[in-house]
Amino acid sequence: MSEKRDYYEVLGLSKGATEAEIKKAYRKLALKYHPDKNPDDKEAEEKFKEAAEAYEVLSNAEKKSRYDQFGHAGMGGAGGFGGGMNMDDIFSQFGDIFGGAFGGGGGSFGGSRGGSRRVRGTNLRVKMKLTLQEIADGVTKKIKVNKLVNAEGVTFKTCSNCNGSGRVTRVSQTFLGAMQTQSSCPTCHGAGKMIDKKPDGADANGLERKEEVIEIEIPAGVMDGMQLSVTGKGNAGPFDGVAGDLIVVVEEIPDEKLRRDGDNLHYDAYVSFVDAVLGSSIEIPTISGKAKIKVEAGTQSGKVLRLKGKGIPALQSYGKGDLFVHINVWTPKKVSKKEKEMLEKLGESENFQPNPDKQDKGFFERMKDMF
Ligand SMILES: [Zn+2]
Repeated sequence: MSEKRDYYEVLGLSKGATEAEIKKAYRKLALKYHPDKNPDDKEAEEKFKEAAEAYEVLSNAEKKSRYDQFGHAGMGGAGGFGGGMNMDDIFSQFGDIFGGAFGGGGGSFGGSRGGSRRVRGTNLRVKMKLTLQEIADGVTKKIKVNKLVNAEGVTFKTCSNCNGSGRVTRVSQTFLGAMQTQSSCPTCHGAGKMIDKKPDGADANGLERKEEVIEIEIPAGVMDGMQLSVTGKGNAGPFDGVAGDLIVVVEEIPDEKLRRDGDNLHYDAYVSFVDAVLGSSIEIPTISGKAKIKVEAGTQSGKVLRLKGKGIPALQSYGKGDLFVHINVWTPKKVSKKEKEMLEKLGESENFQPNPDKQDKGFFERMKDMF
């Protein structure tokens, strides 16, 4: 651990500072580095904790005198602050410092500052299986979900515990005088409302489960594992609150023929030895049907043909991937006696001896050309 800074230095004070000066200095720092003002800022959080720790010691007469005499060494051991303070400790301290200014005595970040709020419902998650063709074209799907909705016939009235403000104030006596702390109303969770009348079947939040058919538009180019969020289509919020989101998790059904690699597709085509030698036209599957491609005379096994724009549309742009056709020359596993004789005769020809030239590049060379 790095060396601890002097508590007076942390608060920007010199030794002998008065109680009022200590309190004022801390209030300033706590406001400056408060996590609500500095979301996801680790450094601010450290400063916030450091200041809180300094204040905790210097605001306590007994601890202060020990610290003044012995410095950090005096604070070790039992009752010391070896591990620093946690956020809950700090926020519980706030009741004394700020009164109701921060609210949430127990201390949750990002809570609303006074006033009622609409409570948000939870998100719903569903898996959606999609074929490669649906992914390539984009598709609108209807799915049935079982979700929490506002029960029909539920009526609400003003929360009697907080009178609709969503917050409760507690006044406590401290050594600095009467202080008040505010927190979210435990009865209505801050909504400011409570249930007046509800039908049978509605839960304590005025919600019931219901099947609903939701139409979801899937854009072209989504990938397996991708999550699409449909705002406001999740579970309804308690007390007439805001609905959560519907999260759709994409599951790609692997295609039997076409292999996907990002926005590109790959297909393994097999041609006969004769077609590879003499040239031919072959039919291949594409995402939208079929296509005929030409195999040039003298095509080597392993040659890759690229069909531009025959892949999957890119999700974030207007581009489209390509379809790569990998040519494989089919070698017969068995031959008849007659075929064997013919092949042996062909094998004597100089023409049938492997003689790769520069154009018959190796596999990796060809791939390099493509990308
Ligand atoms: Zn309330």
